[in-house]
Amino acid sequence: MALSAVYLSGVYLWSLAAMWGGLWAEPENQPEAVLEGPFPWSHQRLPTNIRPDHYFIHLHPNFSSTPDSDLSASDSLTGHVLILVTALDNTSLIVLNSKGLTIKEATLTDLTLSVAVQRDLIQRPPSADKQKRILLHSATSRQQDGDQPRAAFKPVSLRVLGSPSSEQLALLSDKPLIAGRKYQLSVSYSGSFSRSYSGLYKASYQTPDGDTRTIAVTNFEPSSARQVFPCFDEPSMKAVFSLVVVRRSQHISLSNMPQRFSKHLEEDLVEDHYQTSIRMSSYLLAFVVGDFSVNSAKTKRGVKVSVFAASHQINQTDHALLEAVKTLDFYEEYLQIIYPLPKLDLVALPDFESGAMENWGLVTFRETSLLIGQFDSLRGQLWVSLVTAHELAHQWFGNLVTMVWWSDLWLNEGFASYLEYTAVRHLQPDWGLEDQHLLMNVFPALEKDSLLTSHPVSRPVSCSTKIREMFSDISYHKGASILGMLHSFLSDDVFIGGIRKYLSEHRYSNTQPDDLWKAMSEKAKNSKEPRAGILDVKSLMDSWIIQRGYPVVSISIQGRQIHMRQDLFSILPQNNTEAQTLWQIPLTFYTSSVSSVAFHLMKSKEEVLALSEEVSWIKANVNSQGFYRVNYDGDTLRALVTELQAGEEGAQGGAAGFRFSPADRAGLMDDTFHLARQGWVPYGDAFTLSMYMHREEEYLPITVFINHISKMIVQFSFNQQACISRLLREHLWRVLGRQARSERWEEGGSLPAQSRRVRLLDLALRGGLWPEAEQEALRLFHFWMAKDGQHPLPMSLRGLIFRVGVWRGGYAEWIFLLQQYRLSQSGKDQVTMLAALCRTTNHTNILWLLNASLQNHIIKTQDFKVVVDQLAFRPKTNEMLWRFIQQHWDQLVSKFPLGSLYLSDIVTATTSHFNSTQKYDEVYEFFVTQRSLGHLSFVQQSLEMIKLNMRWLQANTKAIQSWLQQTYPVTYSAYPLLH
Ligand SMILES: [Zn+2]
Repeated sequence: MALSAVYLSGVYLWSLAAMWGGLWAEPENQPEAVLEGPFPWSHQRLPTNIRPDHYFIHLHPNFSSTPDSDLSASDSLTGHVLILVTALDNTSLIVLNSKGLTIKEATLTDLTLSVAVQRDLIQRPPSADKQKRILLHSATSRQQDGDQPRAAFKPVSLRVLGSPSSEQLALLSDKPLIAGRKYQLSVSYSGSFSRSYSGLYKASYQTPDGDTRTIAVTNFEPSSARQVFPCFDEPSMKAVFSLVVVRRSQHISLSNMPQRFSKHLEEDLVEDHYQTSIRMSSYLLAFVVGDFSVNSAKTKRGVKVSVFAASHQINQTDHALLEAVKTLDFYEEYLQIIYPLPKLDLVALPDFESGAMENWGLVTFRETSLLIGQFDSLRGQLWVSLVTAHELAHQWFGNLVTMVWWSDLWLNEGFASYLEYTAVRHLQPDWGLEDQHLLMNVFPALEKDSLLTSHPVSRPVSCSTKIREMFSDISYHKGASILGMLHSFLSDDVFIGGIRKYLSEHRYSNTQPDDLWKAMSEKAKNSKEPRAGILDVKSLMDSWIIQRGYPVVSISIQGRQIHMRQDLFSILPQNNTEAQTLWQIPLTFYTSSVSSVAFHLMKSKEEVLALSEEVSWIKANVNSQGFYRVNYDGDTLRALVTELQAGEEGAQGGAAGFRFSPADRAGLMDDTFHLARQGWVPYGDAFTLSMYMHREEEYLPITVFINHISKMIVQFSFNQQACISRLLREHLWRVLGRQARSERWEEGGSLPAQSRRVRLLDLALRGGLWPEAEQEALRLFHFWMAKDGQHPLPMSLRGLIFRVGVWRGGYAEWIFLLQQYRLSQSGKDQVTMLAALCRTTNHTNILWLLNASLQNHIIKTQDFKVVVDQLAFRPKTNEMLWRFIQQHWDQLVSKFPLGSLYLSDIVTATTSHFNSTQKYDEVYEFFVTQRSLGHLSFVQQSLEMIKLNMRWLQANTKAIQSWLQQTYPVTYSAYPLLH
């Protein structure tokens, strides 16, 4: 049991006094409590009259060992913050952010200094020691000189007003602050642990001996630092931070910087003092308190990299450590700017909302994003490598150079989401990272951005909920996609040179997109590449970040002329404004006659390109690097299909005798099915194109094709049209059955080969397409069960085998898998097992899974979405899920705040398959009528998707059914006949 708040209060006052020597003094008057009254500031953004320079934060997160779901009365936060600020205007008002904190006292001390000392202080960031010396010297000399009244250095009380709705505090001084002067703002307060994953929260785990261990964790992005200390919580209000954390002696604490020293206090408390940080935004501050083991190494330049995990998991950290060291070396070389901190810690946390968080020098991870257990496959290693590379990219993009405001979050997330593939491709050239960039960034972003309820990459936001909504597929994946497009058009030389220049010129500062375009333009001007030299990068890229959506380029061949026209890619009738939307499209293409890539910047609505000779086809958007779709006229599409069917050896890729690279084949498939879905081309064209798949061997186009057909199958199953779903499965098997049959239930091969095997065997297991595959999977499951889970199954196929075990087995199989889940020490293996457990058809078990994960009982709440994803795409389980979400809505919101990506994903995953008026009305009634949440993106997107599904079924069911029936006239043949 921890010490009382009264005792703690004495501890921190004493330590701050010790830290600050003569600067600390009791206020003349006791401060007033938070007052009632009109709040004197009416904006969500803070005023710019005060600049924070240096925070001295003393925190005692006092927590019991009860699991995090059971916050006890003794779980508390006691804090004191001194903020050295500069007044930029004459003012009596200081406004800063605070949420859920109880302010005990707030005082202000005028640090009026000599001109020379002020000038010295302005040269930021000074070290803590230096600043302390300056201030002490100033105080002493002035007392001796007697040129300033001593009273100038006494703290005066501030009146405190709070505005919970804007999460702000107003501190009012009777004596105005003078522009240009330095002040010390002192606030003591108490706070609490959060029940969500933001601010300061508890997380717990079980050791192999069954002990429960609890740790304290912070997660501040985007605007939760204010839940732990009053601060100027905006990304452009950068400052330096000196942190002191009080912990119990059996724990350790970690923060952004290395520890300076530790000091034992009374009983079992220890005070850890950290080195002063470099200049950074408040959302990047972090600390963790708990018991961890560590695995360390050094980069080429000597930066210490450490991976921290619970001691029973420390043997799972080698891969992440190696990847982190190599990735840090890679980025230093690639970006030509050194990582500025002396150390980098990566910490595996047992319960975490997102994959990871890039706190400068202390990156926090979900266990599944950092640890590799004994049963984890190469795909598991890929995930750890990608997340690590993403967070390390942020050490430059986000931490060193930060967006001015959350409106341009993509400057952080777009770069990190793009460079993670660049880094891992460099480190693991055989892993097929080009495919992964398309599958994870470009194709999903194209799909999301075709919704009317999508948003521009860059858009104004103000309140916390809207800021959280910026953490969307658009900021991450469209941001990454348009950077990739620009990179491929500008060439390495200009793009990499441009980002080096951008980082170098704006280090420790904040930027807007124009700063990036300016750096790129200057590099482009001096480039030897002719197309780069003529580019106005700003006007090119503005059309991609300020406008919602993206263009479809319609192409037709007329003799030696290529006619091109751009339109907004959309399904619903476009209003006049949107119909006039134009993009500057960096087009790339090759033709049936010339296989080298040609470039053209399309700026107008319609343009004509003259070729030197007639061609039978043109393939535009080379390797799917552009963020647009291509709609070929009927003859050109037929010529492309003929080319795919014929398959001659060609220059663009050449794999399996194709003239088009796997990325081009996948892009063609993705475009054509999406164009059909939105009504731009007949579905028959898309299906005819897909017939070439019987020759396809590559993971990327196979995956894109399976994804499209699978979505249709789900739509028809939600519409109770089982016979069309069955025909679609038959189509899949007709064109991919040969490839599936060549796969074995074995490990081995490259990562792309393993990924392909999983997709094809997964296909074979659906709907009894290949009964022998199912029998083999079930045999392996029972063998594994008979060996009490000790038999080594093929690692990449464990998920499929577990799924069949649950699906075809009964209660015994389900309960056995649950036991193995509880025994497992690998987070990733647990997720694999959990996904399989959700395949049960037993309603009691399904409800148990939903309740257990939401209550953090046996299943961690962070994995609630795993359960949702698995239950969402089957009509019967979806119905239970939808009811559960409605019944537990308040609990969900208290864990995952409104506007958070996690909550949005839960809702859209559940509702995105609905396709009836009844379901539309249910969703509208629940979110809009009853809860007035119609302004939130996830509600708007859910409603739009349901409408689109209804319209799609109405417009396309007959066409799809008739193509399938004509192509496969023996419609109800037993699948074994297909062998
Ligand atoms: Zn990120």
